Amino acid sequence: MDNFKLSEQEVQFLISRFRTPFLVVSLEKVEENYRFLRQHLPRAQICYAMKSNSTTAILRRLASLGSNFDVASGGEMRQLHELGIVASRMIYANPVKDFDGLGTAQHLHVRRFTFDDVSEVPKMAQYVPGADVLVRISVHNSGALVDLNSKFGTEPEEALNLLKTAAQAGLNPAGICFHVGSQSMTSQAYEEALGVCRELFDAAEDSGIHLTNLDIGGGFPISPANGVAPDITQMLETINGQLDRLFPDTSVWCEPGRFICGTAVNLVASVIGIKNRGGKPWYILNEGIYGAFSGILFDHWTYPLTCFASGETIPSIVAGPSCDGIDVLYRDIPLPRLEVGDPLLITDIGAYSTASATQFNGFPISRTVVWETEKG
Ligand SMILES: *Cc1c(COP(=O)(O)O)cnc(C)c1O
Repeated sequence: MDNFKLSEQEVQFLISRFRTPFLVVSLEKVEENYRFLRQHLPRAQICYAMKSNSTTAILRRLASLGSNFDVASGGEMRQLHELGIVASRMIYANPVKDFDGLGTAQHLHVRRFTFDDVSEVPKMAQYVPGADVLVRISVHNSGALVDLNSKFGTEPEEALNLLKTAAQAGLNPAGICFHVGSQSMTSQAYEEALGVCRELFDAAEDSGIHLTNLDIGGGFPISPANGVAPDITQMLETINGQLDRLFPDTSVWCEPGRFICGTAVNLVASVIGIKNRGGKPWYILNEGIYGAFSGILFDHWTYPLTCFASGETIPSIVAGPSCDGIDVLYRDIPLPRLEVGDPLLITDIGAYSTASATQFNGFPISRTVVWETEKG
């Protein structure tokens, strides 16, 4: 599976139609990623974590493929609702829900929720009585890029109590969920977590609670720009085998974000200014860390960068357009001499990029165009 990458000609074609900066999504690549997961992890129904990239065209394509959706706020639920995606395809997987989220879930009839503390039970019982609720447990994983287990998840020993409390409050204790952390490089954390979940399912059964649902979260990795590529096929097949062994009769969901959209988007930006500092060239782009490159900060990510100029390369610095010193994107990256106006292509920038972009300094959030529409 090749990641989506425009050729120089294709970049020039798009520049003749749109002013930079802009992002380009390949919906065919989104679909390929979705189908790949379905094929290699057939036991798990996909609930796309829309926080990673909520571009309308991506949501529509996934909806047409049969995807469900992991939502975290009233705003996300309303966005799906406006696209005609029904509440039965949503799971509200933010363990702590605000009152706009609860009210929206009540209004739209969302019926699946996750939680990791007893304080959440009366809130759900009031707004969505009888709903299916899953307890999120924390799991151990030192092999993830983004930690999601210090802020989220109860200790497994507490899970049974939470399920019982939910049942007493009139909710339906439906299952267990976890998230091993984003960009998890091996299947080990999943395998360990599944073992813990099996014990919890058995303990619940012993106390008269029959659990029916298991949600194994997201975390499925893409190939990083620098570093070892994960063996994703093997990872998924291992997880699927474990699901078959430990949970033959359980309904299983997963919540991929990065894996679906990460490799399906390119950014085209241009050099808008050049400085020389300490003998090194600094290239200022029209897109920066407050925009689509926000994932450098929030997502700890490095994006592959391609330029189309030729010549001898020298260590260069690439920075964004804002008036903040933190807005530096690449340090000592080998580049040939660039000119004002030269385009740059950035790949694998689909996840946690525009999703967390701001309009700081008055620079608008860059638009995303659909490659398959533009190329005709
Ligand atoms: C962010 C998030 C995801 C998606 O994680 P990825 O690592 O992008 O796959 C899934 N589930 C929950 C609850 C999340 O918070």
